Amino acid sequence: MDINYNADVIVVGAGPSGIAAAISVAKGAKKVVLIERSQYPGSKNMYGGAVYTSALRELLGQDIEKIKFERKITSHTYAFLNETGSFELTYQNNESNSAYTIKRFNLESQLIEIAKSYGVYYIPNTLVKSLVVENDRVIGIETELEKYYAPVTILADGVNSLLSQNLKLKQDYKPKDIILSAKETLKLDKQTIEKRFNLKDDLTQGVAKQYFGSDFKELKGYKNLFMMTFLYTFKDTIMLGVGANLDDLSKNKLNINEILDIIKTHPSIAPLIEGGERIEYSAHMIPEGGYKKMPKLYSNGVMVVGDAAGFINSVHFEGTNFALISGKIAGQCALEALANNNFSSNFLSLYRKKLEKSFILKDLYSYRNIIERLYSRSNSLNIYYPNKIKELFEIITGANCVSKSKQFREFFFKLFKDRNPIELFKDAIAFLRCALDVFFGK
Ligand SMILES: Cc1cc2nc3c(=O)[nH]c(=O)nc-3n(C[C@H](O)[C@H](O)[C@H](O)COP(=O)(O)OP(=O)(O)OC[C@H]3O[C@@H](n4cnc5c(N)ncnc54)[C@H](O)[C@@H]3O)c2cc1C
Repeated sequence: MDINYNADVIVVGAGPSGIAAAISVAKGAKKVVLIERSQYPGSKNMYGGAVYTSALRELLGQDIEKIKFERKITSHTYAFLNETGSFELTYQNNESNSAYTIKRFNLESQLIEIAKSYGVYYIPNTLVKSLVVENDRVIGIETELEKYYAPVTILADGVNSLLSQNLKLKQDYKPKDIILSAKETLKLDKQTIEKRFNLKDDLTQGVAKQYFGSDFKELKGYKNLFMMTFLYTFKDTIMLGVGANLDDLSKNKLNINEILDIIKTHPSIAPLIEGGERIEYSAHMIPEGGYKKMPKLYSNGVMVVGDAAGFINSVHFEGTNFALISGKIAGQCALEALANNNFSSNFLSLYRKKLEKSFILKDLYSYRNIIERLYSRSNSLNIYYPNKIKELFEIITGANCVSKSKQFREFFFKLFKDRNPIELFKDAIAFLRCALDVFFGK
């Protein structure tokens, strides 16, 4: 078959995974076309707010210095929300250099500029409608206006990857495999953010907060609502968002934006965002299926990267690092395929082999059951323990003229009275199994 190729590699989607794939191919001095449906890079993309330097450095080397971030994240808080307050654990390290906040538009547009400087040919504002397949091999893509041909196509089209679905690499996700998330960008002046979060004024400090808990009076009566709330400080904005399982939302007939509105009034959150003017609202899906729902990652002439492949570890809020490194690895495999003039599925299985040696498939494998295990205990994590922690701290902090021994004894016996001991045992087993999964993971 004689094909007039326009490029060596076509990459569909200019999120972190697609840009990384394109950069990796361009670094090998091959011709790469990067096609993005949105007019401005990053304008259709969404996240909580932290990008990780180790993955960016692995992709860009010294060029990471060209990226202007907003704030370095030096403080991580994990919190349990109850109806009237919260229990928070904060880890602070002012020397940490591993994560920064940056808006997606700024991240993607700066990465695109770096990609162009390597020779990537970037085509924005262009929707890829379908793949061109001949003799069971992907040989290019079709946009609304024209067709582009290349021996390798990399699909970086995000969580809702219709292209890999059409190629039967990926099955349609079920609602329980998806987290639906809503987020607001709240504008506040820089000084207010620094004062409120106790940050230095030179952007070398920032805050990331993750909250568990759904026992709010407005949400009483809803069942198995496992939700995670996040808050990140940027230069002069705060990002506040929440994610919940799509299946739980639809069974409870709840909208994610209603939940976000409730969270904004919570006594531990409202003071942090007070006076913030909403300048942006977005909603996005997160693939939750993990290792078990991973699509076939390659076929003749094609590879799938980033969210399109379900590469995300939502327990640790990691996604951009999986996207960047899977893109980089796919780009390297494309270079090897070009060098060997072999674009078969058999040859491109190299991509999966390389992913297996990286943290990507190791972590996805180790965490393959964890979300399910946590969901199975969602009432414990979101309602029972946040309340028990509250009761425990009322004893520790409340000088209420009752003997401490009596109060601690009552607390301990109530643990078993309030809850069937079998449920407590199930919690302990589920958490232990999560720990063992990670400890004995790959
Ligand atoms: C609420 C939320 C919070 C998150 N928080 C974090 C966090 O703090 N840190 C972190 O590391 N990760 C986080 N993530 C995950 C992270 O955002 C993703 O893992 C990452 O964006 C995946 O990058 P990607 O390039 O694979 O996909 P995307 O960023 O989704 O990019 C896909 C691109 O493909 C384009 N596209 C799609 N279809 C077509 C088509 N047919 N033709 C042309 N272009 C197309 C889209 O416009 C888009 O630009 C979060 C995600 C969400 C939703």
